Amino acid sequence: MPEAATILSPAPRIRVQAMKEYHPPLGSRDALRLDFNENTLACSPKVREVLAAISAGSLTRYPEREPVEAIVAEHLGLAANQVALTNGVDEAIHVLFETFLEAGDELLLPTPTYTMYEVYASATDARVIAVQAADDLQFPFERLLAAITRQTKVIAIANPNSPSGSVATRAQILQLAQSAPQAIVLVDEAYFHFYGETVIDLAGVVPNLVVARTFSKAYGLAGLRLGLLAGPVEIMRWVRRVLSPYSVNSIALACLPPALEDTTYLDWYVSEVRAARSEFEAALDAAQLRRWPSRANFILVEIGAQHAEFVRLMRAAGVLVRDRSSDPGCEGLVRITIGTREQMRHAVTALNETLAILRGK
Ligand code: PMP
Repeated sequence: MPEAATILSPAPRIRVQAMKEYHPPLGSRDALRLDFNENTLACSPKVREVLAAISAGSLTRYPEREPVEAIVAEHLGLAANQVALTNGVDEAIHVLFETFLEAGDELLLPTPTYTMYEVYASATDARVIAVQAADDLQFPFERLLAAITRQTKVIAIANPNSPSGSVATRAQILQLAQSAPQAIVLVDEAYFHFYGETVIDLAGVVPNLVVARTFSKAYGLAGLRLGLLAGPVEIMRWVRRVLSPYSVNSIALACLPPALEDTTYLDWYVSEVRAARSEFEAALDAAQLRRWPSRANFILVEIGAQHAEFVRLMRAAGVLVRDRSSDPGCEGLVRITIGTREQMRHAVTALNETLAILRGK
């Protein structure tokens, strides 16, 4: 090969060159998984039945999403053309940002929050305006309101938020939407089931409100990659221009109706997590650890300077937890997913053993 070929490698866009690498620690996770806020147990047995019945022949066909979008829309009380299924909420975020963010636009992001908003926004030509929460990590409503400009094009709100577990009220969301009519207000309800409050009924009512939901958390289908966007028909029409018609695979589409139908399983899992959350909060209080009130299936806990050692020792005790120390305003904080009561009792034992080692030092 001529020498020039080794020197001249194709350069990505300037914005891509400036992007940070993001490698979530997804390796070696054969332990109690309290690190990624997934369902810690299983999906509905009804989904397992459908999975077992999928024929080899059916896999030869491209997936057909419209009939399933209609089922999901009906389940949510919306029209079919208001709902788009996506390859996880991650694709929903990606496509929404690609559809609406261009040079000169601003994305308002209350921080700390879910990492992928910044990842996808930094791949566009828009500017990310981070609005930091105070020490209590409550939703920084007043600061967000004050940060709105004519350039604000998207306001991304995880509700409940990760890693804090804090929430934005319906009134706050409405006021933000009214104060920035030129912007999309994305309300990411990934953890909706553990919270119980939603604004999905306002999708199509408020002209600039878009809601995201995932099947990765309460439904226990993170491996299938299923999410959705719901909003006004006009906005969804633009989103569909960018969204691949093939991105949700046929196995995921087949599993979605039984997942939605089996409300008994969903209700059981959610109430189990809520009960476990209360028990675990009491255990954290007994261990005298500072924690942030959470409406989701995880709790943010202050460990302090020994955060990395804490995560390592918990792993050695068979429990995976997530170090959030490098998130803005989260120095020394670790996020712990809530599973079933039985799993969380095991986690409490590991926690107390780990703290005994750390505090004995
Ligand atoms: N939104 C939030 C707020 C999340 O925390 C997560 C997962 N960690 C996601 C979206 C990703 O959802 P999905 O698996 O559907 O891509």
